[in-house]
Amino acid sequence: MKQRLTILGATGSIGDSTLDIVARHPERFSVFGLSAHRNIDKLLEQCLRFNPQFAVVGNAGLATQLAAQLKSAGSRTEVAYGEAALIELAHATQCDTVVAAIVGAAGLAPTLAAAYAGKRILLANKEALVMSGGLFMAAVRHHGAQLFPVDSEHNAIYQCLSTRAGVEKITLTASGGPFRTRALDSLAEVTPDQACAHPNWRMGRKISVDSATMMNKGLEVIEAHWLFDMPLQQIEVLIHPQSVIHSMVSYVDGSVLAQLGNPDMRTPIAHALAFPERIAAGVAPLDLAALATLSFERPQPERFPCLTLAIEALRQGGIASAVLNAANEVAVEAFLSGALRFTSIAEVVAEVLERIEPSTVHTLDDIRVADARARRLAAAEIAALTI
Ligand code: NAD
Ligand code: MG
Repeated sequence: MKQRLTILGATGSIGDSTLDIVARHPERFSVFGLSAHRNIDKLLEQCLRFNPQFAVVGNAGLATQLAAQLKSAGSRTEVAYGEAALIELAHATQCDTVVAAIVGAAGLAPTLAAAYAGKRILLANKEALVMSGGLFMAAVRHHGAQLFPVDSEHNAIYQCLSTRAGVEKITLTASGGPFRTRALDSLAEVTPDQACAHPNWRMGRKISVDSATMMNKGLEVIEAHWLFDMPLQQIEVLIHPQSVIHSMVSYVDGSVLAQLGNPDMRTPIAHALAFPERIAAGVAPLDLAALATLSFERPQPERFPCLTLAIEALRQGGIASAVLNAANEVAVEAFLSGALRFTSIAEVVAEVLERIEPSTVHTLDDIRVADARARRLAAAEIAALTI
């Protein structure tokens, strides 16, 4: 029987790569649901090509437009909109696998819904796990969901962590982003387009900025902590500019297992889609002789303050990582719209983290309240900085 997929965030970079693999293996996969926030032109194309039962968009107006276009093209795909519809889609009994590829906090509720429904979850939306860590993992366990990391580092670790016996540490590799060697005193001047021009990966704009600040690696440390139940002291970050080693696991006997491949998200997505089997992903074979050199360096804290802030938030625990995430989302958006300097992203996050007192998380509401408060404080901080 075919694996029936729902892709939340189908029109993004991860959504694209997922559908590329689906198209290569029509005998294995069928598409039950697709979602997009605003890009209904692309969603229309995807619906006509993959024929899902449901499509979900951001608001009523877009839903009406898309429904009319689908109907006139002879499609039977039904259209809904809003968070409730995303949650329903993630829950639906007619789908086996939910690909969580919405960017940011907007993915939290539907990704959690997939966990409550006991789905096979392909997790790209790291922000959801960063925000809700303990609650999310408890929901996965209690409802028998299967969680497969799509983030390339975590997928690599998943592949190298065949046994939990004797694990000494895990090493998350990082490219260092576009500003790894740029003069520190020129960082305040970088533009959104420069920040989004990642040397190795083509990704959405938010994660591209996070890669440039290395907040992305900080979020990934938090993600790894929850996914692999790994204490912070056993998680290391290493810059590896070629992005060929996607991460490593070190064992007490001196063995280090690494997963290698070209930087192409179709590899981890195909791994997670087909597990325990393997399927072709259209990725070019790795040519180590042509690469010739793989290099490594430690991240400098003065260049990447966001990495330190994320680690600090994980150390604090409770609501701190949700606060960090919310402040970062607001600051990145402000940077992308030209309202904040690149170097002020870290300043805003630091200030918000400092102003919200630590507190434990008992319910999803605790997270929502902390998220909303951090967003308000971040907005006020940005306004103060730009006056
Ligand atoms: P993207 O910006 O390309 O796509 C985001 C998707 O989410 C789009 O389909 C968009 O319509 C949808 N979306 C945006 N805002 C929304 C909202 N408010 N409500 C509902 N849907 C919304 O992003 P991406 O690069 O594909 O990243 C998606 C997620 O995967 C992120 O959490 C990112 O950190 C993670 N991730 C991405 C990559 C990558 O290579 N792109 C790698 C690892 C992890
Ligand atoms: Mg990653």
